Amino acid sequence: MRIYLDHNATTPLLPEVVREMLSCLETTFGNPSSVHAEGREARKVLSVARSRVSQLFSVDLNKVIFMGSATEANNTVIAHMHESSAKELGFATTTIEHPSVEEPMALIEKSGRKLIRIGVDSSGFLDLDSLETALQGQVALLSVIWANNETGVIQPVAEISDLCARYGVMLHLDGTQAAGKIPMDLRSLQVGFVSVSAHKFNGPKGVGALIVDDPKTLRPWLQGGPQESRKRGGTENLAGIVGMGKAAEKAGGDLGERMKEYSRLRDELWVQIKENIPSVKRNGTVSSCLPNTLNVEFAETPGDVILEALDLEGISVSAGAACASGSVTPSHVLTAMGLSLEEARSSLRFSLGVGNDSDDVARAVAALVRVVSRIRGSRVS
Ligand code: PMP
Repeated sequence: MRIYLDHNATTPLLPEVVREMLSCLETTFGNPSSVHAEGREARKVLSVARSRVSQLFSVDLNKVIFMGSATEANNTVIAHMHESSAKELGFATTTIEHPSVEEPMALIEKSGRKLIRIGVDSSGFLDLDSLETALQGQVALLSVIWANNETGVIQPVAEISDLCARYGVMLHLDGTQAAGKIPMDLRSLQVGFVSVSAHKFNGPKGVGALIVDDPKTLRPWLQGGPQESRKRGGTENLAGIVGMGKAAEKAGGDLGERMKEYSRLRDELWVQIKENIPSVKRNGTVSSCLPNTLNVEFAETPGDVILEALDLEGISVSAGAACASGSVTPSHVLTAMGLSLEEARSSLRFSLGVGNDSDDVARAVAALVRVVSRIRGSRVS
C-alpha cells in the first residue's frame, strides 16, 4: 500500500463526497439558470452547496461565489481591484505567494502600477513593521497567503486585517491551504476577499470559491452570463459544486479532531526524523503552522533525489510546491525565508491528511532513513 503524504498538493475525495457527486451527475442534469422543474432542482442543490460552504467560513450565503479554482479566484480579485481602483494607488503582496497571486501581480506591475512585495523573517512570518510602512503609502489592495502551501506557516491574519482597516486598504487572503485545516471564522476579520479550493479539503478538483464581503461591487472576471448573481459567467459545474459543499460540511464537522490528530502525527514524524537522520532542520515555525504540514531540510541531500527514491518505495511527498515539481528551481518561499539555494533544494514537504496514521509515519521514516543514507553515502566529496 502506498503512503500519501502530499495532501497540500491535493487530497483524495471522501466517499460521502463521491456519493453526492454521483447522485447529482445521475439525477440532477438541469441547468440552474432554467426556469422549468429540472432547472429548479439544479438551483436547489446549488443552494444547498452554497449554504454548506458559507457555514465553513461563517459568512452569509450571498458572499460565496463559486469559481473553477482558487487560481481563478485569485486572478479575479487582482483583475477586479486593478480595474476598479485609482491607478496611482499601489498594490502590496508578499514574497511567499502562490504563483496564482504572484504572476497576475507581476503583470499588473509591468503595466505601470506600483507593487510592494513584503518580505518574511526566517520563520516565514510576514514582517508586520514593513507591512505597516507599506500600507501607509497609498495602497489599494494587499494580498496575503493565509497559510503557506510549502511550510504551513499561518500568518497573523487578525493583525493584518486590523492594519488594513486602519489604513483603508482592501485585504485579500488566499485561504486555499487554510480551508478545512484550521478554523476560518470570517466574521472576526475585516477582509474583502478570501479564495478557497475544494480539492484541498477532500472535495473535487476544478471547483473553488471566492468569498466576497461586498459582492455587489465585484466586477466579474468571466463575463457573459447571469450565473453566480452575474459575478461569474459560465454554466455552473454543478456536480463539482455539490462535491465542494459536501466536503465543506465534512471538513467543518470534524475539524477539531482532525487538527489534533494531524498535529500528533506531524510531531511524531518530526521527532522520528530528527532522532534517526543526522543533519536535519525544520523549516518554518512550530508556533503557528498548519497542523498537517512539516517542511524539513536534509543537509546536502537534494530534495528531488530523495523524492524520487521515496516514490519508488511507495511514499509520496513533495519538494517545494506541486505546481513547480518537475523543475529543479528551488522554492522561492524557502529562499525568501533566508535559506540558501542549496538549502532550499535540500528540503522536502510532508503534508498529512485523511487516512494517515502512526503506521504510515513509521514506515515513511524507515524509508527516509534508508534513502537519505544511501544518497548521502553515494555522494563523492
Ligand atoms: N493558492 C495556494 C496557496 C495553493 O496552494 C494553490 C494550489 N496549489 C492555489 C492557490 C491554486 O489552487 P487551485 O488548484 O484551485 O487553482
